[in-house]
Amino acid sequence: MTRYILPILAALLASLGAAALAKDVCEDYASRVPGLKAQQCRDAALQDMGVRSVQGRTLWGRDVRADPAPLRVLVLGGIHGDEMSSVATVFRWIGLSQQPGTDARLKAHWRFIPALNPDGLFAKPSRRVNANGVDLNRNFPTPNWERDARKYWEVRTRRDPRRWPGKRPLSEPESRFLNDQLASFRPNLIVSVHAPFGLLDFDGPIAPPSRLGRLYLDQVGIYPGSLGNYGGVFKRVPVVTVELPNAVQPPTDSDMRQMWTDLLQWSADRLLPPLVASHDAEK
Ligand SMILES: [Zn+2]
Repeated sequence: MTRYILPILAALLASLGAAALAKDVCEDYASRVPGLKAQQCRDAALQDMGVRSVQGRTLWGRDVRADPAPLRVLVLGGIHGDEMSSVATVFRWIGLSQQPGTDARLKAHWRFIPALNPDGLFAKPSRRVNANGVDLNRNFPTPNWERDARKYWEVRTRRDPRRWPGKRPLSEPESRFLNDQLASFRPNLIVSVHAPFGLLDFDGPIAPPSRLGRLYLDQVGIYPGSLGNYGGVFKRVPVVTVELPNAVQPPTDSDMRQMWTDLLQWSADRLLPPLVASHDAEK
């Protein structure tokens, strides 16, 4: 019986004043994420992606689409819940993606997921792992995960609870959601924002960006179950991993703008089919 009632209840709740709900959500996010204003969150017009975290929080997203959009780009913040600056940065980029001129530089269908691990973000204190204690960025089904992920955790991290990969790959609703996004949205590029190492990492079959804003490329290697390993190495979708220099304080506005501009430029240079690029240039 519950099986039938719950979806009906969820649909009812969703229809009841979505604007008021979003307002409260934005107050929550603004109170949790330094540098994020509630109005900026409201302006982002987040959409319910239809998936809930372990503790039942909504996973929010926003699509911004040029027409035509030869590229699909998935932008992720807050896979690790205690990296609040990544959430603020993705919100800022949602704003920038809607500014005039963005689609002149790069025609893309952007899908932003500003906080992939809301339970970790809203935990007190916020924490890296999700509500089941799983490091989502070690929970993706890379080849030999069963053999390597647990061993890596035991030996290399000395059973660091912040890096527990989970009992099996895709054991968590948040990582399953992201995996489903890879299958349904089929991004040409994934940009995943983290902190606090102050560098740029890259996995994938093309030449990486040498820098975004003040962050310079420094490829740190791959881990069993990480998104870079899964998306970039195994699925061969380029994954740009942005490691901001501070996990709490977001970069300055000019730094966020410069990273965005550099990302557009690199994507246009490296990812657009040459024919499309030259065709556009002739117009
Ligand atoms: Zn991280």
